[in-house]
Amino acid sequence: MDTQLSAQDAQQALRERMRFYRDLGISSFYRRPVDEALWGAPQPAPAAQAEATRTQATPPSAQPLIPDFQDHDMAPRKPFPAPPPIAPPTPADQHASALQIIRSEIGDCTRCALAQGRNQLVFGDGDPNARLFFVGEGPGADEDASGIPFVGKGGQLLNNMIGAMGLRRDQVYIANVVKCRPPANRTPEPDEAHTCSPYLFRQIDIVRPEVIVALGQTAVTYLMGEKRPLSAWRGAVHPFRGSKLIVTYHPAFLLRDPNQKKFAWADLQIAMRELGLKPPQKA
Ligand code: SF4
Repeated sequence: MDTQLSAQDAQQALRERMRFYRDLGISSFYRRPVDEALWGAPQPAPAAQAEATRTQATPPSAQPLIPDFQDHDMAPRKPFPAPPPIAPPTPADQHASALQIIRSEIGDCTRCALAQGRNQLVFGDGDPNARLFFVGEGPGADEDASGIPFVGKGGQLLNNMIGAMGLRRDQVYIANVVKCRPPANRTPEPDEAHTCSPYLFRQIDIVRPEVIVALGQTAVTYLMGEKRPLSAWRGAVHPFRGSKLIVTYHPAFLLRDPNQKKFAWADLQIAMRELGLKPPQKA
């Protein structure tokens, strides 16, 4: 059996690894660890070894392969567009109908390339008057099939996280940065996120939650309009459109690395503190 990685497989493996590290908040990578992780330790030819010895003033391991992967991943160098102005408050008894108006405006949207591959547009789900609003990245296969956000394995974990906070899913609101599934669950391209996210901002302005929890790097990047490692956002309360924004890991990441759940729980406890919630008592 051919055990060699094809170039395409290697690129996919590297993308997955970058995404994993991005979720951890690591933003700088160096040639040797990344190469060795994918290909094994290099075996330099004798001539190359001699050249390396001669040029030891600049060791290869100090040369960044990707100086800051954020520039190579989901976000471009161009500045983020200004967020839409905050809409005036909507009377509480009109939140549901105001959200329905936005859904009607979106219609059978073809404003970005993600329309081509979707089965169903995933608008949002939950209590239009929720105190707590979760923002994810975009629909996956299960969400694309059902039209409801966070219904797959990640959704089950999110439901458990909500339950641990002493809430039911129907007491919160959930939406994504993009409303259509990116092909193969890739990260939304900046132009896709910038095209779709104004609808998310309008949903947030209508619901007017006290607390927003951004699930993962893409969510916080496009909410705050600023690229930083996740670690720079977590552990603090950020003012956001009249709400308090708290940042934690995406459930999909927690499924890949359950050891991080305790850190996500610490983030959710910040949200609970801001909402005046106490963990449910065990019977
Ligand atoms: S992702 Fe958003 S902007 Fe793009 S087609 Fe879907 S609804 Fe329209």
